[in-house]
Amino acid sequence: MDKDERNDKGYRLLDCYEASKHHFERAANKLKLKREIRDWLRTPFREISVHLTVVMDDGSLQIFQGFRIQHNNARGPHKGGLRYHPEVTMDDVRGLASWMTWKTALLGLPLGGAKGGVVCDAKKMSSGELERLTRKYTQAISVDIGPNQDIPAPDVNTDANVMAWMMDEYSKLRGYEPAVVTGKPVDLGGSPGREDATGRGTAFIVEQWAMENGLKMPETTAVIQGFGNVGYNTAYHLSQMGCRVVAVSDTRAGVVNEKGLDIEKLFKYKQDTGSVSGFHDAKTIDSGDIFGQQCDFLIPAALENAIRKDSIVNIKARAIFEAANGPTCPLIEPELAKKGVTIIPDILVNSGGVVVSYFEWVQNLQQFSWSEEQVDSELKKKMQRAYRSVVEKSKTENVSLRIAAYMLAIEKVASAAQTRGAY
Ligand code: NAD
Repeated sequence: MDKDERNDKGYRLLDCYEASKHHFERAANKLKLKREIRDWLRTPFREISVHLTVVMDDGSLQIFQGFRIQHNNARGPHKGGLRYHPEVTMDDVRGLASWMTWKTALLGLPLGGAKGGVVCDAKKMSSGELERLTRKYTQAISVDIGPNQDIPAPDVNTDANVMAWMMDEYSKLRGYEPAVVTGKPVDLGGSPGREDATGRGTAFIVEQWAMENGLKMPETTAVIQGFGNVGYNTAYHLSQMGCRVVAVSDTRAGVVNEKGLDIEKLFKYKQDTGSVSGFHDAKTIDSGDIFGQQCDFLIPAALENAIRKDSIVNIKARAIFEAANGPTCPLIEPELAKKGVTIIPDILVNSGGVVVSYFEWVQNLQQFSWSEEQVDSELKKKMQRAYRSVVEKSKTENVSLRIAAYMLAIEKVASAAQTRGAY
């Protein structure tokens, strides 16, 4: 969307790049960061744009546009997911890449930030077409990725299979190298616990916040937008903690059951039918009505800008846990704060995925594998530590949890960049 363009409802939305700059500037002001350091930290290191010619199943050739943005590597190799989506833009990927820099720094991982995107409608492509596209993309960026350079992972519409194709293609070109991507199938060097790590981590953060705010998990309710990797796994782990997940949605519809949805049955139903719509133990509603459902925890786990100006009036939750990247339009945050809704920011809430990706990379480099118990317990420790540091910073600096999280992350990246030097 152009800078001053309004949507058909008459209000502005920020794309991921604008949103990331918005949050960065507010935290940088609070830190009184010098202009040249600001310029350095907000500017991506490398921006790759490629055109991929792919043979489709009917024999025709189709050209796809792909991006890889490497934002910052002051603290370690670039790290970030790969998204397949018909509307992904270079600016979205720029914003998503910078969020990875702040996320890895906040969690204390020795990694930087990157993101990839390919403009394609993955849901309408066959497995063979997706494989050929993934292999072409990997060939096109192969000189700029690698275990010590940039390590991709799954994101929206990409999964362990896509990572296996990337690993195989890269290994053909440059020698066997499982540490080039994370989120691989466990048989190919993936880590136990990676598949559900983002949802598990989100549930840890919800649990921490609930404890701190005097709520007992079995007495709480949650509503989740999105029922893909992150949405489903968050729902699953929350329900294991006793929380009632009363509504979830996907692109087609939402389903509500005030007594709590049976998450495993719903998952199976979605696998069989392609959507949550029509699930027998629940009332089906419009997908867009999900945010108006009564709950303690509202968890957007789909795409950016999901919570926007026209959602505010309906929101009845006490807190929003950003399991997706950038799901709350930054321009409405002051109104949500006035309404008493706390936002727990994406770079903290959804960081479980990159934490376990880091564990996978470490295991690959050591050629040694950990048990799922070890992965889960290390994940929990890292996320609890990050949660505490954000809460403390927010109190001592008298800022929102989001600005506190950015301040902590920016301080670490600024310090590493300046210590390494710009020569
Ligand atoms: P996914 O492709 O597995 O699932 C996305 C889900 O969102 C699907 O169920 C889709 O139907 C749903 N959806 C899309 N638009 C919707 C709408 N308007 N209303 C309701 N549902 C909608 O993707 P994912 O991996 O679960 O990623 C979701 C979000 O989490 C993204 O913002 C991603 O960047 C972020 N994230 C993912 C990971 C990870 O490990 N996969 C890690 C960190 C952050």
